[in-house]
Amino acid sequence: MACVVVRYHEVALKRGNRPRFVARLVQNIRDSAQGLGVREARSLPGRIVLRLHEEADVEAVCARVGRTFGVVNYSVGYETPLEIEAMREAALALAAAASFRSFRIDARRANKQFPMRSPEIEADLGGLVQSQSGADVDLSHAEFTITVEVLPQSAFVSGQKQRGPGGLPVTISGRVSCLLSGGIDSPVAAYRMMQRGCRVDFVHFHGTPFTSRASLDKARELASVLGRFQQRAKFWDVPFGEIQSEIVARVPRGPRIILYRRMMLRIATALARRSRCRALVTGESLGQVSSQTLPNMSVIDTATPMLVLRPLVGMDKVEIVNQAERIGTFETSILPDEDCCTLFVPAHPTLHATLRGIDEAEAALDVPALVERGVSAANLERLG
Ligand code: ATP
Ligand code: MG
Repeated sequence: MACVVVRYHEVALKRGNRPRFVARLVQNIRDSAQGLGVREARSLPGRIVLRLHEEADVEAVCARVGRTFGVVNYSVGYETPLEIEAMREAALALAAAASFRSFRIDARRANKQFPMRSPEIEADLGGLVQSQSGADVDLSHAEFTITVEVLPQSAFVSGQKQRGPGGLPVTISGRVSCLLSGGIDSPVAAYRMMQRGCRVDFVHFHGTPFTSRASLDKARELASVLGRFQQRAKFWDVPFGEIQSEIVARVPRGPRIILYRRMMLRIATALARRSRCRALVTGESLGQVSSQTLPNMSVIDTATPMLVLRPLVGMDKVEIVNQAERIGTFETSILPDEDCCTLFVPAHPTLHATLRGIDEAEAALDVPALVERGVSAANLERLG
């Protein structure tokens, strides 16, 4: 029977965490492959196996498995009875469907009752595949590797391993809320939190009615691209233009950008609490722009009692861009828009904010009323 064998990193797991990790991973794989012809997804010792219906869309199943965090690698193949003849048939079928100049067989016998030892299985299947395909055996740099896993109930014979995204299965670490601009950085920050097992909600602030809705459309698109890594996503959009113009009317130019950020954090905190998020996430990276200095970050953080995570803090822009390209958010991020933060931004923003200076500037505002205004105008969409 056709199947997909999914493998995770056992060494990365503390013993007590393993059952929870595996159960969550199985559930996430089931969710992600729904409707594609997977008959069942089950945990077997050391791996997870998806048994496929005949009419399954194997390519689509692989694409989904390849985006599921916690998956280190996976391969497509066959489940066979514990008989060498059945394993031979499976290996030959896999070899016939692939094209390669060199190959190897990699056998693991977890079931010591099986009468042939691993090297014997490798030699047996290797000889057959070699004479069918005419390809060379290459133990160190094979173009195609057939993996044979002999387990207690059955064996799995599968083709070339494909890499998964690694990390921890989504939701195992809890829920966080990411402040998502239309830029390059915050989508990467969200991705990195998902990779550490968080389910990520998104909050986007837009300058309407003072800017076009372009940034909102971009952010929604980014959230749905990212949503594919966790099946679904909550997306909050918050009209922020009027709050900014209030800040502009009452606060000198220098500290404005810090006040915008603090307002965003406060509003995001109120929304995050409704969904039981445990932390906020931003795409800030130390020193990347003038608002992202250590003094400024410290002052920004005091606006909320919630933990603020900055997964990109130590990354440089080139690394972030490379990752954005791999995730598939870069193309959208570089589309032109009008970010609300470019609204009324001074040419020389404060680099070294002090809490006292910011408190004085904020004293001119009715902060709770502005937060309430943002929260009550926020609109929730469920994507995916
Ligand atoms: P990005 O590429 O994510 O826009 P950036 O380098 O442009 O980041 P800033 O514009 O200073 O940096 O924004 C810093 C962080 O503040 C962003 O990564 C994001 O988390 C948050 N942020 C900024 N603008 C918005 C917005 N309009 N809506 C939601 N979050 C925002
Ligand atoms: Mg930005």
